[in-house]
Order: sequence, then C-alpha cells, then structure tokens
Amino acid sequence: MGQRMSRREFVKETVVATTLVAGIPKGSLGALSGGPLDVNKQVVGALGAVFIPSASGDPGYKELESHGITDYVLQSLPLDNAATFNAVAQQFFAGKSFLDLDEKQRMEYAGIVADGSKITDDTQRAQLQAFYRGARSRILTVFYKNYPQQAAARDAAGVPIVKAGNTHQYTNPNTKELVTGWDIAGFKGPPDWNEEEQLRAKAKKELPYWYEGDLVRLSDLRPPAATALKASDGADYYDVIVIGGGTAGCIVAGRLAEQGVNPKTGDRLRIALLEGGDDWTIRDPGMKSGYGYPIRRQMITNIPDGIGPEGSDPGPAYRYPDLARGAPAGYNFRLIGGCSLHYGGTCWIPGEDDFYLYREASGVNWDEAKFGAAIQEVQDLFHVMTPPEAWWNRGNYMWAEAGRALGYPMYQATIAFRNPLGTMYDSESLPRCDSKGTSLPWAYIGLNNGLKVIANAEVRKILIDKVPGGRPVATGVAYTDKAGATHQLRAARIISACSANWTPLLLYRSGYGPKDFLGGNLLIENKNVGMHMTGDFSMRATAFLEEQVSPAGRDGEIHDPEPWTSVNPRPWRSLSIQIRGDGAGRQPESIALGPFAPELGWEHKEYMRNSSGVRHIMGWAAHLGALPWSWRVRPPDGQVERVELDAPRVDAAIKESEEVIRAWMGKLPAKVAKSDFRQFHRPATSFDPRHVSGTVRAGDSPENSVCTSDFDCHDIDHLLFTSSATIPRTFFWSLGPTAVNACYGYRRIIANHFSRGCSTRGFA
Ligand SMILES: Cc1cc2nc3c(=O)[nH]c(=O)nc-3n(C[C@H](O)[C@H](O)[C@H](O)COP(=O)(O)OP(=O)(O)OC[C@H]3O[C@@H](n4cnc5c(N)ncnc54)[C@H](O)[C@@H]3O)c2cc1C
Repeated sequence: MGQRMSRREFVKETVVATTLVAGIPKGSLGALSGGPLDVNKQVVGALGAVFIPSASGDPGYKELESHGITDYVLQSLPLDNAATFNAVAQQFFAGKSFLDLDEKQRMEYAGIVADGSKITDDTQRAQLQAFYRGARSRILTVFYKNYPQQAAARDAAGVPIVKAGNTHQYTNPNTKELVTGWDIAGFKGPPDWNEEEQLRAKAKKELPYWYEGDLVRLSDLRPPAATALKASDGADYYDVIVIGGGTAGCIVAGRLAEQGVNPKTGDRLRIALLEGGDDWTIRDPGMKSGYGYPIRRQMITNIPDGIGPEGSDPGPAYRYPDLARGAPAGYNFRLIGGCSLHYGGTCWIPGEDDFYLYREASGVNWDEAKFGAAIQEVQDLFHVMTPPEAWWNRGNYMWAEAGRALGYPMYQATIAFRNPLGTMYDSESLPRCDSKGTSLPWAYIGLNNGLKVIANAEVRKILIDKVPGGRPVATGVAYTDKAGATHQLRAARIISACSANWTPLLLYRSGYGPKDFLGGNLLIENKNVGMHMTGDFSMRATAFLEEQVSPAGRDGEIHDPEPWTSVNPRPWRSLSIQIRGDGAGRQPESIALGPFAPELGWEHKEYMRNSSGVRHIMGWAAHLGALPWSWRVRPPDGQVERVELDAPRVDAAIKESEEVIRAWMGKLPAKVAKSDFRQFHRPATSFDPRHVSGTVRAGDSPENSVCTSDFDCHDIDHLLFTSSATIPRTFFWSLGPTAVNACYGYRRIIANHFSRGCSTRGFA
C-alpha cells in the first residue's frame, strides 16, 4: 500500500463515506464493501483509465498498474473527497457508484463532475471538483512524466549510477520494454550517443560556426592553488576573499587570480573563493562545448528528473535562501557557477537604454563606452549568438510576419550557446554537453592561476573592525563548513558576490544595514542595504490554431528562436513592454495539463499522441521591464517585500499588452480556434519581481546606494561588491547584465586595489 493511514484518518474517511451515502438506495454500494483505503485506491485507479484509456494494442494507464502507478499517485493526492466522488455517481446512474459503472459511464460521470452544472448542491460540487481536479492533475503528471521510468537511479550521494562501460554516461530512464507517457507523446527523452553524433553532424551544417576542442581546460603547468599565510591572530590569511562562486563571483575571482597583483610585493594574489554550494562543476579537466566532459554529463546532461542545477527551476526556493538550504536531498540548487547554471540561456547585453536607467536610478558614472571591453568579453566567453535560420519553423515565420503587419520591428533573440545540438536538452534549461554559456570558464581561468576554491563554505559573517573615530574596516569572514564547524579567515580585501537575494542577508548578519532591521545588532548604518530591489515580470498568452504550425521533430521538440519586438519606440524608458515569440513547451506532463488539452478520455490521449495537439499552439510572452516598483529583502530568511508600486501604470501596461497580442493574433494567416489570456487578468499587485537586482546598488552617495561606481563599499573600507546586487535597476533580464557588470567590476577593482601603486593597507 503506497499510503499509510492513521486511526484518526480511518475514522474520518469512514464517517465521511457513511454520511454521504445516506439517502442513496440500499444495495448499491458495489465496491464500497472493501476497506476505505481500498476503495480510494480503486477510485483513483479507475480515474487513471478515464484520463489515459487503453485499447487492444494501445496501452494506457491500467497497463502500468502492475508497476504500482496508483500507489505512486496516492503518495501525494489528498483523498478527503474520494469516497464522496465514488458515492455521488449513484445520483446520476440509477444507484450505481462510480466503481460500478462501465468505462463509458465513468467518463461520462467524470465529465459531469468537471462541468459541475448538474450538481445542484454547492458544497457537494466543491468537494467533488476538488477531488477530481487534484486527481486529474496528479494522474496526468505522473503518467506523462513517464512513470515508472522517470528518474535515473542515484547513489546515496546523489550521483547517478551508470552501467559499467557506459563511458558517455547515458542515463535516459526510458526503455522500449514498456509503453509509458513519453512513448505516447512521441517524446524520446535525451538522445543516446549515436543520436548525439547525428545531431552534431546536423548542427555542424546548420550553425554558422562549429568549434572543435576545449573552450577552456586545466593547464598541466598551472601553479598550485593558493595557500593561506598566517595573520597575527593565527587565522589563515589570503589577499582576497571572494564570497559566492556564482555568475559574478567566478568572473571576478578568475580574472583577479589571472591579472591582479599584491600591490605590496608584486606577487600573484592569494585568492580564496568561498562558495556555499558544491564544486563538481569544475572537477572535469575542461569544457568541450557540444560534447561535454564526464562528471558534468553524469550529473546532469542526460537527466530530466528535475534534480541538478539545470534540471530544475529553483524558483522561490532559490530566491529564499533558507528554503534552498532545506531543499530535498539531491537537489543541487547551489554550486560553483551559481545561477549561470540555472538560467534559460537568454543573454541580454546591456545597451544605452540600460545605462540611462542605471544613471537615473543612483547617479553611477557608467556608460556604454566605459563598459565596451566588458561587453565584448561576455559576448566572447558566453558566446552570445542569434538562433540560426534552421531553427525557424513555419509557426515562427507566421508569428513574426503578423507582428510586422502591425508595424512592429522584429529583433532576433540573443542567446548564449556554443555548439548547441538544437534539441530542447540544450535549448531550455538543460545545457546538453555544456553548450550553454556559463561563468565556469572564468573559474577555470582562476584555477589555472592559483585560485583556491573552498566549496561548501557558508559565510555567516563579514568581520568588521570598528575603532572610535576611524572608518570601519572589513578584515575577514567567518564561515561554516559542511560538517557545521566554524572557521575564520582574514584578508586584505573582501568581495561579496552573493547575488541580490543573499548579499543583504550576509550584511545584516554582519551588523551592516538599516536600523529598523538590525536593532541592537547594528554596527554601521546604511538604509539602502537590502532596498531598491527591482526586476521584470512576464505574462504568457497562447493561441490554439486550427492548423498545425510546428513540426513533430525528434521529441516533438523545437528549438525556439524567440524573435521579439518592443511595443514602445526607442528610446526605451520606464515601463517598457517587450513581446517575445514563445514556444508551447514540449514536456509531456505540462502539455497534458495545458489550457487547450481536452478534459479526459480518448480525446485527451489523441491530443497527446505524438505531440499532435501542441503543434497547433503559438505563444506570446509579454515582458514588462524597467518597472515603476521596488522591493526589499527582509531578514532573516530573504523574503521580499514590496516597497513601492505604481499600480495604475502597471495595470494599464498589462491591458495594453493584451490588446497588442489580441490584434497580433488577428493578423495571423491561420485561424485561432481558442486563446488563453488568463495571466493578463491578474492585477499588478499580484506579480513579484524576476531577474532581480539592486540590493547593494552602486551609486554616487551613501544616501542613495551602498557602493561606489567602482564597487567599493561607501561605509566600510576594504569591502567591495559585485553580482546582480550592484546593478542599480533591472531593465530586462539579469544574467547578461550581471556578467557585464562583473567584467567591468574586475577591471575597476584591479585598477584600484590590485595593481602596483595601489594602497598596501591591510596586505600581509
Ligand atoms: C531558473 C532561473 C532561470 C533564469 N533565466 C534567466 C535567463 O534566461 N536570462 C537572464 O538574463 N537571467 C536569467 N535568470 C537570472 C540570472 O541567472 C541571475 O540574475 C544571475 O545569474 C545572478 O548572478 P549573481 O552573480 O548575482 O548570483 P548567483 O549566480 O546566484 O551567485 C551567487 C552565489 O553566491 C553563493 N552564496 C550566497 N550566499 C552565500 C554565503 N553566505 N556564503 C557562500 N556562498 C554564498 C550562492 O550559492 C551562489 O552560488 C534566471 C535565474 C533562474 C534562477
């Protein structure tokens, strides 16, 4: 039995069932004669066959019963109203409970419940529909996530187990021995090595360039990782500590190791990079785009099970640090590489509109010209490209033509991929074979130049000396290791690279921030710490067209080229609307529950079969940026709280976006059968920010910001910042802006702190 039931629950279920069947003709209880849990299981199993029916030669849900599918479904399905659902069928089918009905009648009854109009008692309708909807969602999700072949086997340390001799770490859980959800949907899962070779051959013809060899590799001649000296108090000393080995942290630490010098001795810098997560992303000897290396391949490349950085959207858990720490075993939300491993691959490079907004927000002295070398570096190492012609399908052309017919210019997406194979496994969250641009190459540059990486090191506090009459000075950090032991390190300079969510939390714990948050723990006040968080948000509209517009392809995938437009003419200022072509998404479990999927039965199964339904769908993502709102990060857990919002303006922009997309649909050459605009009917107050920045923003004074245009803390000497937290305002997206900000940042930091002639204060 997949689910245990306490005595209390047993009594409750029995009472509910007894109460509800009162008044129903005697002798018609059918399968209710078993124990309540058996009945619930039978009801759920029967519903499985309603949603995914079977026929001779066409297996469905019930063929997976011998593999325990209903027990698995029951593991997380509330059953409060299952008995009611079974019993109430008697009102519609001459005293027969749901379990007594034949297959056709069961479908009919499920349809009655889904529709609800024939159920006159409001409470009963609510109970029935709650159970029905929960069961539909859980059953379709489990089935189309490919139960029982949905996950790679992992060992106790969370490492996927591969068969001996499987040198390519092929871990696709799907087999040909059983017909599962993926087989029905025509979704093969990750390609095996032979298929990969075919895809590479195809990609080599389709892409303008194919790069052979390693993008970066560890040099055999590299110096050993930096060792600490001893400070006067006996603690380990480094010249520089970088806290957080994420998008910006890898870039800054890597380039300081390569180019910075100790201004006192002229020697190579001793740098420690402290990362709260693990470091397996840099254990391979190199990175070979389009092929990958063994450790990363084994951990993530072939594994669509939601575990691992690219296999999951960490969502709120990542944004709220304490939730991330409490993540289920095996979920590697935090790793060297940070969010550059999680992001979707869209790489927005800041342009003059971004710089205008930065200057306007906090008076930074930045402009596009000053950032030119940094922008070029990101474009080179992330390999920012536009999707090749071969990725465009008929639907994409129709979408772009209809937008042009409304007078909007069409832009090509900028995406960060090198040697992509053109499947959803490199186009979406899973960068097959390291084709997605990440910050890891900079970490490798650091490793080749003596960078010391200390992983699983959660920095609890920045140590700040405060002497009467003098300026406060950052002198070191305290961190805990994986075993929970605390360590102290000293350094001449501390650079926090902990991102927009986590940096303020570290500063609060260190006694730096606004008085109202820190109270008696306040050491140094700056009301801007944790404030000014901005971000964008998006809403998705979809249309179901009468004809199919995208091909089935391998896995029914498309590598969406995401053409886009700006609704507002240039210059782009506060509250800009961008609209992007948006694929329907190809994961069978989300298609099965999508707005255009039929309710149940054969109609649903045919919609799913070989991705036939989803090939009719076209999407629009309306993206609102440079929003007139701001948020702040609350201690102790990092929950974000809205501070300002110009709701009438944002509501008007939401409405305008909907009108534009409706007009756009009207210009399509194919007829729109149905559309879904539900996300546009939410008020501005219901959205929270994505692609966040600004919580220790750079600016021209401690009155409006936390650090200078050169990233030095306004209030504490020897403390510097990088990461999304330093960007004064989100225009659109944040990965590209964060990387560009870090590439500019390390140049300023080297010029001001790690070149000959710089101040030697604090250096050993
Ligand atoms: C699922 C997802 C999809 C996204 N998609 C896109 C996209 O397509 N395009 C786009 O532009 N942006 C995207 N983003 C946003 C973008 O990835 C981030 O804004 C950007 O990478 C942030 O970089 P960062 O350096 O500020 O922080 P991070 O990369 O998060 O790095 C911070 C690092 O600091 C570590 N850390 C934090 N606190 C401590 C501590 N106390 N001690 C030690 N270590 C610590 C963390 O573990 C982490 O590794 C996406 C984000 C997510 C989560």
